[in-house]
Amino acid sequence: MTPPNAWTDPDGLLGVLNRCSGRSVTSVTASITHVEQLPWRPGRPQDWPSWVPSQVRMAFVARGVNQPWSHQVQAADLVHAGHDVVVATGTASGKSLAYQLPALTTLMADPRACVLYLAPTKALGADQLESLESLEVADLMPAAYDGDTPLADRDWARAHANWILTNPDMLHRGMLPAHSRWARVLRRLAYVVVDECHAYRGVFGSHVALVLRRLIRLARLYGSDPVVVFASATSADPAAAAGRLIGRPVRAVIEDGAPRPGTDFVLWEPALLAGSEGQDGAPVRRSAAAEAGRMMADLVAAGARTLTFVRSRHGAEQTALSAQRLLADAAPELADKVAAYRGGYLPEERRELERALGCGELLGVASTNALELGVDIAGLDAAVLAGYPGTLASVWQQAGRAGRRANAGQRALVVFVARDDPLDTYLVHHPETVFGRPMEAAVIDPTNPHILGPHLACAAAEQHLTPADIELFGGTAIKPVLDGLVANRTLRRRPTGYFWAEPGHPADRVNLRGGGGGQVAIVDEESARLLGTVDLHRAPAAVHTGAVHLHRGESYVVQELDLETGIALVRRDRPEWTTIARSQSTVSMASVHQERGYPGGVRVGLGPVEVTEQVVGYLRRRPNGKLLDIIGLEMPRHTLCTRAIWYTIELSALVSAGVAETSVPGALHAAEHAAIGLLPLFAGCDRWDIGGLSTALHADTGAPTVIVYDGYPGGAGFADRGHQVLVAWLSAVRDAVAGCPCDAGCPSCVQSPKCGNGNHPLDKAGAVVVLGLVTDAISTPEFAAAVGR
Ligand SMILES: [Zn+2]
Ligand SMILES: [Zn+2]
Repeated sequence: MTPPNAWTDPDGLLGVLNRCSGRSVTSVTASITHVEQLPWRPGRPQDWPSWVPSQVRMAFVARGVNQPWSHQVQAADLVHAGHDVVVATGTASGKSLAYQLPALTTLMADPRACVLYLAPTKALGADQLESLESLEVADLMPAAYDGDTPLADRDWARAHANWILTNPDMLHRGMLPAHSRWARVLRRLAYVVVDECHAYRGVFGSHVALVLRRLIRLARLYGSDPVVVFASATSADPAAAAGRLIGRPVRAVIEDGAPRPGTDFVLWEPALLAGSEGQDGAPVRRSAAAEAGRMMADLVAAGARTLTFVRSRHGAEQTALSAQRLLADAAPELADKVAAYRGGYLPEERRELERALGCGELLGVASTNALELGVDIAGLDAAVLAGYPGTLASVWQQAGRAGRRANAGQRALVVFVARDDPLDTYLVHHPETVFGRPMEAAVIDPTNPHILGPHLACAAAEQHLTPADIELFGGTAIKPVLDGLVANRTLRRRPTGYFWAEPGHPADRVNLRGGGGGQVAIVDEESARLLGTVDLHRAPAAVHTGAVHLHRGESYVVQELDLETGIALVRRDRPEWTTIARSQSTVSMASVHQERGYPGGVRVGLGPVEVTEQVVGYLRRRPNGKLLDIIGLEMPRHTLCTRAIWYTIELSALVSAGVAETSVPGALHAAEHAAIGLLPLFAGCDRWDIGGLSTALHADTGAPTVIVYDGYPGGAGFADRGHQVLVAWLSAVRDAVAGCPCDAGCPSCVQSPKCGNGNHPLDKAGAVVVLGLVTDAISTPEFAAAVGR
């Protein structure tokens, strides 16, 4: 079926983009840095497994699935045989069939059996529910159980549903603490489905891993032993990542048998703006959002249906608006065919959007990343990604929106537009990071005592912990955490095990999306609505009075932060500036003796650190980086106990390599910034999940030192991952800094938007020397052995 307005220019969409590139008069450098031509790949259909009952088969045939793809059959067979499986194949490859076939087969044989489905977002759960409800299978009784479910429906779900769709937060707070009310489900729990499991990383992922262990334990107590099925975006080692989530081996299915449309995937670096200067005379690039708006106008004018992903809702509106304005001149009849996606997460709103794009009422939509999951838009011609969405998995998820139903003759277009920061810039100049083997795997650390402790307390409150349970949660390694809980009278030790010693249940005090410690509530002054929470230790830097706070793409300004009551009052606003806290911090290491030395005066350390930070003010900047002013603040000092990776270089080594002693602070500082900018590519964290510090003389190491630490109490595993991949990571950092065409540092290499020192001092040339010395020193078999690689 050819959709209306199908795009049919024989030059291909790439031609449109080339014309658009040639026309940019302000261009100083070329815009397209790479084009990857992904070939069309036919699908590999296979017969239905013989164990699938005809009624289940017919239900899928009625929906248009005449035959399953090879990976669906391979995974379904493994699940049916009782193995825990992770299906890690491309966007829209039909991963759900892998668990739906065995699960529906089980329900046909035993309608009392149950399936528990977990999604990271409510939107995805709602889509899954809709899809199950439309399946004509007798005995299937699906129901949602999440924060939006009305009370009566919750009762029905508990009493009757055999396919329950929920999320980890609801499982943690609602279902596990009240497990006796869920006895019917837990007794016959046959399958647990963990959808989009790559979303579980960092602190959130560590929490979810422990919630899953609590679920498995209670299921066993009630006499069931569910098979766990994970669906994941493609990643470096999905079996290991899923295995870490559940704490036992998982088999991976990665051979994608679904057809793939031919796609031209373009990497695009916005041109430098002639005559504009940023901080310290740094060159300024066109913003990714502005570039995306222009691109969308050109594509829409050529008749291509285009979806543009932008970081913020405000940015999405700006992008749509600028595309509309450009079209109003070039092709006025098309101007009203472009819109911003402003809706919330309601399925109806997304359906409406899908419909409008599907029938050609709309040709271009600019959206926040919100639309990434659970939207089914057929036959889009192009996707424009304005900036790195956080993980490579998300890049592919967004890219997968283009050409989802394209055929052999029609090529789709994907454009990744770099923002002006080290990571985006590195990606567009190193296509192998995008198109080679995916390198990031979700990092979690369920042994972090700040996260493990609260979940052990929850587990004990659910049912006292026996020695067998302790095995499930990590064995003897967790003894110190248990002892701590006993010492502070959270748990009581008896001959039969560990018992919860307080009234009530601790689950309400544990926020899966936050680190350990307290929380500050972010409250909208106008509506008194709770927008979200931020960890207490991050509050002074994130939501100080005057801070511009982004929430689901909407911008707010903090009116008042009260650390005593734990409330930050915010007001919706769109100021013409961004803010960044200025702070003074120190880091002390407890385990300097565990450092290892390498040739050339280089030492590398990994271990617990204590970060003391005081926010002393904040900077206000224009979107182009221009500094408006600095406002002073008085904030209490606070301490964060976490984990860090650090390296030191002897001063004499730096000097003999040509770094003047006065340049050492700037060289280390620049090397630190660039390293923080690129770690997300290797550890799957956000730039804001980590912090850093550099100093020409550190009291504990006694040498010039660069430190990168986890931003959460106890750490989320990022520093440890950084240590593991240090050679690759710092080599990439060196390439990024050395390869940047700027003279003295810019946002694409060593300037940081979150610098507590306002980007002073920075020495770009010195940073290249520092990074060269360190990478040379650790590119040895000894270092590889030390990190177990
Ligand atoms: Zn630069
Ligand atoms: Zn800095």
